[in-house]
Amino acid sequence: MLVKAYNCGTLSGTYAKDAAALANAVKASGADVVLLPGTSAVRRSAAGAAMRAGAEIDTNIVDASLEGDAVTVQKWAYRQRILTSFTRAAKPWVIVTDPSLFGEICAKLGASAEAVPPCGDVETRTVQNGLEAASGGGESTIKPDAELLFVAGAGWTKKQADGAVHLDEAAAAITGFISKSGASLGSSKSLVDMPEAAEKFTFMSHMNQVGQTGATPRHKKGLSTCCHGEEPHVVGWRFISERRAVNLDANCGWAQGKADVLYVGDAFEVMKKVNALLGA
Ligand SMILES: Cc1cc2nc3c(=O)[nH]c(=O)nc-3n(C[C@H](O)[C@H](O)[C@H](O)COP(=O)(O)OP(=O)(O)OC[C@H]3O[C@@H](n4cnc5c(N)ncnc54)[C@H](O)[C@@H]3O)c2cc1C
Repeated sequence: MLVKAYNCGTLSGTYAKDAAALANAVKASGADVVLLPGTSAVRRSAAGAAMRAGAEIDTNIVDASLEGDAVTVQKWAYRQRILTSFTRAAKPWVIVTDPSLFGEICAKLGASAEAVPPCGDVETRTVQNGLEAASGGGESTIKPDAELLFVAGAGWTKKQADGAVHLDEAAAAITGFISKSGASLGSSKSLVDMPEAAEKFTFMSHMNQVGQTGATPRHKKGLSTCCHGEEPHVVGWRFISERRAVNLDANCGWAQGKADVLYVGDAFEVMKKVNALLGA
């Protein structure tokens, strides 16, 4: 296991130069693991450099250990509530540490920090190669100016009364409503974390997550569907004054004073009807 460390004191702070220099350093090092201190110049350019060098990268690493031929690192998640330990099979693996812990982590992995090697002249002026239609990346479902926030929860991916999951029907109900109503799409964390959702619900991502570890949107009204309404989700609704929810469970979180109106019913049926009324 070859571990290299670069102290990065010579970086310029210009993205184009630093990304090229770091990519060059990662490639030229031939190392399995490359350690960098998370200074502002490194944090700006390391991800781009790792991509150019075909490496994987983890930032905000607070500890590391070497056991046999495997490096294990530690990083806080959930806003410093859970300390995670993990390793990666990918090589090269770029590890960006907190700057104050860099020396200690280098010592633990037996690496002594060197300067980033110079990499020659780099083109720093942006060259425009052409224009791509904005719609090329698909329509955005996050619309801060919309009057309504429509939240989809993990219930859309759960087995329904017939014992089966209905992901295509769920996707059609959600996108049908979003496109007809002009609402912004929010999600619970459970839904955006699900691999099934990543595959089938391509119209949403972690950017849509509302809640304690997600966004706090400011729409006037909110309609939640198939979402339980647990506190870590509902704190993201703190600026939404008119709240309604559709849930099969009459005792869900929304019923505990978190929504003005709770419709106890099947969101598949409700949204099918609503979409039909909207002409979707
Ligand atoms: C530190 C921390 C931070 C967190 N941060 C967030 C955050 O930022 N955002 C967030 O969302 N969560 C967050 N969570 C997770 C949160 O606690 C819940 O686990 C999550 O919100 C649950 O998502 P859900 O309601 O979509 O899924 P579930 O809890 O699985 O609920 C699914 C709901 O769908 C309903 N349902 C199923 N089928 C139907 C149907 N046909 N019609 C109507 N209803 C149906 C069920 O009755 C159920 O209530 C956090 C948790 C922790 C510990």
